[in-house]
Parts: sequence; C-alpha cells; structure tokens
Amino acid sequence: MGNVTLNRVTKQFGAASVIKGVDLTIEDGEFCVFVGPSGCGKSTLLRMIAGLEDISSGELKIGGNDMTRVGPAERGVAMVFQSYALYPHMTVAENIGFGLRMTGHSKDEVARRTATAAEMLQLKPMLDRKPSQLSGGQRQRVAIGRAIVRNPQVFLFDEPLSNLDASLRVQMRTEISKLHQDLRTTMIYVTHDQVEAMTMADKIVVLQGGLVEQVGSPLELYHRPKNIFVAGFIGSPK
Ligand code: ADP
Ligand code: MG
Repeated sequence: MGNVTLNRVTKQFGAASVIKGVDLTIEDGEFCVFVGPSGCGKSTLLRMIAGLEDISSGELKIGGNDMTRVGPAERGVAMVFQSYALYPHMTVAENIGFGLRMTGHSKDEVARRTATAAEMLQLKPMLDRKPSQLSGGQRQRVAIGRAIVRNPQVFLFDEPLSNLDASLRVQMRTEISKLHQDLRTTMIYVTHDQVEAMTMADKIVVLQGGLVEQVGSPLELYHRPKNIFVAGFIGSPK
C-alpha cells in the first residue's frame, strides 16, 4: 500500500520557514502532481517525502507506517531526477541495476529485474550502450528504469522532463502516464508546467509560499478554483 500522508509538516532552513504546515493525503495508486511557482517549496516537499531532507516538524506516513525519521532506503520510495545523473562509464544495464547491486541483490535477480524494466521502457536494444550514446529521452528512460527495478511503493519525480525539448516532453508525458497505468503505483510528480499537471494528474496540489493553496482533480481546479491565484495558475478563463 503506497498511500502517503503528511500531517502538519514543516521545513526550516536556518531562520527561513520554507514549508509552513502541510496536511495532505495521497491515495494508494494515485498520480498526484505538485504545481506552483518557482521557490514555493515543491522540491523541498518531495525531498522530505523521499527522506533526502529532514522534516523539521510534523509527521509523514507511507503505507500507513510512520516514516518521519526513517532513512531514505527504508521508505520504499524511488526518486527520478531531472538531471538524469547517470554514470557515464557504465552501460545502460549497469546503470539500471546499480542500486540493486549495491543493496546486495543477486546477479540473477538484478539481471531479471533489469530485463523487465528495459522491456517496459523499450530500452532492450540499448542495454550495452553508454549514456553518451543515448538521446535525451532514452537517458530519461534509463533514469526511470533505475527507479522501477527497486519495486517502490511510491515513485517521486522532480520536473523530470524540463531538460527535454517540447515534442519529446509530450512523448515522455504519455510514456510516464502509460507506466502509471501499467504499474498502478502511487506517483508524485513535481512540475511548474500547467499542461503536464492537467493532463497527467488524478489529483493536483497547488502550492504557494510553502502552503497548500488548493487540492483537487484537474476538473475541480479548473471549474472551481478557490481564488485568483489558483485560477491564474491552472488557466481557467474565470
Ligand atoms: P521549488 O522546487 O518549488 O522551486 P524549492 O523547494 O526548491 O522550490 O525551494 C523552496 C525555498 O526553499 C526557496 O526559497 C529556496 O531558496 C529554499 N531552499 C531550498 N533548499 C534550500 C537549502 N538547502 N537551504 C536553504 N534554502 C533552501
Ligand atoms: Mg524545484
């Protein structure tokens, strides 16, 4: 069960209060998109769910378990980064399997899971290539493959498509949505792109200044924005 619950979650960086008390429930299997202007705290919130940033106060539960002080490896989450962060000297297969090998999985298990991920992401013909021999979209797929092999309860994406050109962005958007349909795993996806939010999300969380401004389905936010900020952000004509 990959439901995620945040209870009065805050984040301070020194004197700066960056997340100011977020209450949020993301259901198991939901595709949840965080949107909001630059600097509103999207990445910080995602990194706290990933365990890459400490939570200053409040509580985080994943799959019903308290994860507030649990290390990132024990949370059952996998993060896909924007700057693919692939190892240039390793092949695609080695990049995909690296995390599993580090956590002591057998060679056979790593090979099996890598093959499944490669099949899912149409990377099979490229397993022996180096990242430098791949297109931007293929590199992004390898980064997603590294997350898939870990069988996470929750996938976390931080603006994964922002380095890609417009047509590739549209294609990858469709691929990630398809992946969600295939896996039915909870996904939390950060973007500042309204079109991505509207087309991909089951649930959109609009953030502003470290607070949740509104939560709803794309249609709810479009037709019943709570205020001018949400209306402007989601692009309803009101
Ligand atoms: P977003 O992803 O929505 O653009 P971030 O979560 O990256 O926003 O940042 C939210 C705020 O927190 C910004 O004002 C940013 O400058 C600040 N911030 C982020 N990371 C740190 C850090 N490690 N130390 C201090 N301030 C930070
Ligand atoms: Mg960010």
